[in-house]
Amino acid sequence: MSVLTKATTHILDWLFPRKCPGCGELSDRAGRHWCWSCFRKIETFPQHGGCERCGQRTEGNITHTFVCGACLNHPPHFDRARAAADFSGNLREMTLAFKYQRSTWMCDDLTDLLEGAAHAHFQPAAIDLVIPVPLHKLRQRARSYNQSTHLAEALAQRIGRPCDTRSLARTRDTPQQARLSAPRRRTNIAHAFHALRPERVAQRHILLIDDVMTTGATLDDCARALKHAGARTVWALTLARRQS
Ligand SMILES: [Zn+2]
Ligand SMILES: [Zn+2]
Repeated sequence: MSVLTKATTHILDWLFPRKCPGCGELSDRAGRHWCWSCFRKIETFPQHGGCERCGQRTEGNITHTFVCGACLNHPPHFDRARAAADFSGNLREMTLAFKYQRSTWMCDDLTDLLEGAAHAHFQPAAIDLVIPVPLHKLRQRARSYNQSTHLAEALAQRIGRPCDTRSLARTRDTPQQARLSAPRRRTNIAHAFHALRPERVAQRHILLIDDVMTTGATLDDCARALKHAGARTVWALTLARRQS
């Protein structure tokens, strides 16, 4: 942090004290809202265990390489998908507020989690492009806010990799995934995404960013479009994973 940024943070802290959304106390983390105690309560997923492909956690202690039934039945187009933590508790509240109440002040706190997960589960230096899961242009216009773009841009800056918000588009507006079953999600989202600039993604190692992963159908369809355009690797990282 530069001297100027530090000074600005101190002035902003004095003007607008940062209250922790978890416990309501003043935050003791510089420039952040979550206090250390609440931040540590978010149980991030360990590096090992769970499905090698989609990251789905399993009961018990798995030490060998394992691929879950869902990935065996429908092999996803992404090479690996991981989430920072479970979609529960404070993280659930923060993720929903960030998405629907445009609480951009949470971006740094949430990016801390993404950055930790990017280092734990991927090799940031190998990433050529960070790409957010896009909204359909009509929805983007109506909401004027895509939470995944904010997260992708912030993460890209932290890990020093370029963020590309123009090469992948959602060309079909689909009903909200949230209430659909896993098979319905797959048909609902099928071919909803399209790589607009194939020359930008061809031969590249791409990290896709979204806020929440449930069945992985959205990430899978984004990866399909990117792989179709020639992407070499598609990794996917989300803040949280909701149990489907
Ligand atoms: Zn707290
Ligand atoms: Zn899996």
